[in-house]
Amino acid sequence: MSNKTAIITGISGQDGAYLASLLLNKGYAVVGFVRSYTTVDLKGLEYLHIRNRVIIEECDLLDISQIIKLLYQYTPTEIYNLAAQSSVSLSFKQPIGTFHFNTISVFNLLEAIKLVERNIKFYQASSSEMYGRVEELPITEKSVLHPVSPYAISKAAAHWTCIHYRESYQLFVCCGILFNHESFLRNENFFIKKVMRDSVKIKNGQLDRLLVGNIDIKRDFGYAPRYVEGMHLMMQSQTPKDYILCSGQSTSLRSILEHVFSKLGIDRDYYAITAELYRPADIDDMYGNSSSARSELGWDYQMTLEEMLDTLLTEELNRTPILNRK
Ligand code: NAP
Repeated sequence: MSNKTAIITGISGQDGAYLASLLLNKGYAVVGFVRSYTTVDLKGLEYLHIRNRVIIEECDLLDISQIIKLLYQYTPTEIYNLAAQSSVSLSFKQPIGTFHFNTISVFNLLEAIKLVERNIKFYQASSSEMYGRVEELPITEKSVLHPVSPYAISKAAAHWTCIHYRESYQLFVCCGILFNHESFLRNENFFIKKVMRDSVKIKNGQLDRLLVGNIDIKRDFGYAPRYVEGMHLMMQSQTPKDYILCSGQSTSLRSILEHVFSKLGIDRDYYAITAELYRPADIDDMYGNSSSARSELGWDYQMTLEEMLDTLLTEELNRTPILNRK
């Protein structure tokens, strides 16, 4: 068992729930920050049966005084900063709000660490989206950033903020540059989750058609419960560094959709492409190289895309009533 305390911002999200579960199993005390007690939905923690093992604190990450107070109160050894407006699509509709929250929250957390206790380790949830229009595939940690959405711009700014605090103040800061990762707890506005949910509804006669946007783009998808293991490994290394976590292979959204439809015996006529779901700018293809994380941290990811899709589909079909309440 460990006597460590970890703070997780964004604990109500997909990664927050799986990371909390992992850290609790390792003996950590886990404190989760949420933006509001009244509006927060902790169904992910409930689904993993850990709601009562986590301390929940309300903290506005845009208000540094609240962060400072809670750092004195809980004296954490590690902070995992997962809170963010995380949707690329929504960021086109809310560019300034996305940029503001996703960057100022990171400055506030790092400045608070600098003021309160410089030995607190900090993990930042960076994103493959920062690379955007890349010249060369696979993407490595050395690839040039060329973000093509307000979300990606905000994540790139936050990423450089982290590097600045590491280099200028010698704080232990590492950024996990994660490619798309999925689970049953993924937000319903993300592609794979939407395909799972709506396909099951079509199968049950509850929905006529699945509407999709550009399904010819290709992405590198992995399984979230395994990716949070990589986050923890980064924070245990001797020297803070940024690491890519990815599967190493990209697949088109079309083939994912067709795989799920064929597993459920649904005809292709049941999906339709609509221009309304196209983004103003998109990336055709991206996949990464996670050899640094594999060789230096011992992160071992072997799951194929088909294995992941089948796991998610089984979970979707067996879903518990608790998640049906929205
Ligand atoms: P998620 O399910 O969307 O969770 C996001 C979390 O951030 C939620 O707890 C949400 O709280 C919180 N949040 C959003 N806006 C906030 C605000 N204005 N104030 C306070 N909290 C706010 O995201 P995820 O998939 O777990 O991803 C975790 C992190 O990794 C995010 O930073 C995301 O950008 C990044 N990332 C994710 C992926 C991926 O494929 N999943 C890939 C690369 C990077 P509420 O519940 O109150 O909304």
